[in-house]
Amino acid sequence: MKQNIKALPEIPEVCPRCYFGRIQPGKRSFAARTAGKPLIVPDFPAWICDVCGFTIYDPASLMNLQRLLTNPPTPYSQYTGPKPTESKPAKSQPKTDQLA
Ligand SMILES: [Zn+2]
Repeated sequence: MKQNIKALPEIPEVCPRCYFGRIQPGKRSFAARTAGKPLIVPDFPAWICDVCGFTIYDPASLMNLQRLLTNPPTPYSQYTGPKPTESKPAKSQPKTDQLA
C-alpha cells in the first residue's frame, strides 16, 4: 500500500553528481533574491558531498524559509486563536402586514 501523502524529497546517500562522494549533513550559506532584495542566510542547513562539494539545501529548512518569506510575521497583529463562533440572536419575528 502506497501512502499518498506529500513527502519531502529524500536526501540521497550517494552524491547524484559524482556518484562517488557521500552526502553529509553540514552548513552552507544560502543566497536568494526576494522581491529584488538579496537574502543571505549564513549557516543554512545543507547536505554536502564530501568529494565534489555538491550541495543540497535541506528541503525542510527551505520550506520553512519560503513560508517565512511569503508570510512574514507581522508584529502588530497578534493571533489569538480562532474567533469564537458568533452566536446569532434569535430571528426577530417577521413583521406581519397587519394594518390598523
Ligand atoms: Zn559529489
